[in-house]
Amino acid sequence: TQPMSALASTATTFPTTHEKIAQPEDTPYFIDNAFVPSKAEKFIDLYDPATNNLVTRVPQMTNDELQAAIDSAQKAFPAWRNTSVLARQQIMFKFVGLIRENWDRLAASITLEQGKTFADAKGDVLRGLQVAEAACAAPELLKGEILEVAKDMETRSYKEPLGVVAAICPFNFPAMIPLWCIPIATVTGNTMILKPSERDPGAAMILVELAKKAGFPDGVINVVHGAHDTVNFILDAPEVKAISFVGSNKAGEYIYNRGSANGKRVQANLGAKNHAAVLPDCNKNQFINAVVGAAFGAAGQRCMALSTLVMVGETKEWLPEVAESAKRLSVNGGFEPGADLGPVISPQSKERIESLIASAEKEGATILLDGRGFKPEKYPNGNWVAPTIISNVTPDMQCYKEEIFGPVLVCLNVDTLDDAIELINKNEYGNGTAIFTKSGATAETFRKNIEAGQIGINVPIPVPLPMFSFTGNKRSIAGGGANTFYGRPGVNFYTQQKTVTAMWASSDAISKKADVAMPTHN
Ligand code: NAD
Repeated sequence: TQPMSALASTATTFPTTHEKIAQPEDTPYFIDNAFVPSKAEKFIDLYDPATNNLVTRVPQMTNDELQAAIDSAQKAFPAWRNTSVLARQQIMFKFVGLIRENWDRLAASITLEQGKTFADAKGDVLRGLQVAEAACAAPELLKGEILEVAKDMETRSYKEPLGVVAAICPFNFPAMIPLWCIPIATVTGNTMILKPSERDPGAAMILVELAKKAGFPDGVINVVHGAHDTVNFILDAPEVKAISFVGSNKAGEYIYNRGSANGKRVQANLGAKNHAAVLPDCNKNQFINAVVGAAFGAAGQRCMALSTLVMVGETKEWLPEVAESAKRLSVNGGFEPGADLGPVISPQSKERIESLIASAEKEGATILLDGRGFKPEKYPNGNWVAPTIISNVTPDMQCYKEEIFGPVLVCLNVDTLDDAIELINKNEYGNGTAIFTKSGATAETFRKNIEAGQIGINVPIPVPLPMFSFTGNKRSIAGGGANTFYGRPGVNFYTQQKTVTAMWASSDAISKKADVAMPTHN
């Protein structure tokens, strides 16, 4: 009931520069379709990563406020679950249209708070929007099954909503990941609590403003803020039936364990170290362009960034050309025309990335391209790391073992395809991998033997569109990968199955005597 923050306002104008905001406003929370200022005592400062100017303060909401948000979602559930799927679909159509209309505004909020370039931020929005578009197929996706299992007897199944569900999101895709959750959770009849990353909640705030306009009733989507304390509150709230988490292994494994111990369904997508195997018979130019884009785009802050090259045989000779191409990328404020990559999220993140580069140097690797110390002229105070390539890396080095999550490409050498497969399979992460080759047989051998969830064949970032599912593997997904995001598995995650077995005999053929043996139908 209070004025909305600048970033969540209905204004048709929105910031498209990194200029200092004269009077930054605190980010409100969102409950019962209203933006409300928090009475929090603690706030988390949010800085523009290109300048380190204050953009907004994000509240660490009080427990009373968090409980009120959960109560609101709980109260909204009975009416929402009884709203027809066709009515929910109509709201989703409107939501999709509004996201498209506000595409630039959403992207601008992402560039300002997260740092990625405006063009890349538009891709962030589109990838999420496509999940909302796919969710419009709810009447088809929610259809159950039916079979006449015996004479006069049939079994049929329903997919019913769970109740209140929660989503806990990371900083790197401020629109896409909330949209992995909002459309499918709500169109299937659940109500939800969304906790965006405390580092960039602006896009999520715009999304809920649009959700309200689209016609979502009060309480169906509430947004709460904060860091660990908010997450713990959600994990322990008995009303919350399921949790969707995307983020680091440290947070995600904890959330999976504590959420599961509390009897909740948890889907949790975690960290990654995505390898590409490069074969001498590949199209070299295509490979160089693909890998430079996939390693350094979004400053390497994508869970599907191609961060590790496995150079098979003589392909290691191509690395100077890869470095030449990477050197040509423009590192600049995300609103600047021609910027290829922006800053990393925080000064701490920059420091961590630089210390991993230093560790590689110390452990005997070669820093083929060194992005440390770079500063674009106009933005001397941002969190800059320019593209960095480390060659002659071995699997025991820290820069190989850890997810760097920055614009750093580490390169290892092997002799054969089998060696490449063995190396990749030994890595504890298994989110995505790619192979560059012109040989169908080589690609097929790789596909069959590789232990990774998402495989690109001459495709550097093989993230499936939402009619499929996001299928990480190994430590890149909690719980053995049983609960994947979006697609039909996403619908299953957000629904409970119910099966009904019914008998309608037209005559009095029903047995006259009680039968105590296990019922069987032959
Ligand atoms: P993060 O784990 O630091 O934060 C994610 C969320 O968890 C945030 O909302 C944060 O408030 C909360 N959180 C953080 N630490 C917590 C703790 N100890 N206890 C409770 N809650 C906590 O992740 P991030 O830095 O925002 O995102 C980057 C990570 O996300 C990378 O590891 C990346 O690979 C991963 N990621 C994975 C996917 C995927 O689909 N596999 C997609 C995007 C990002």
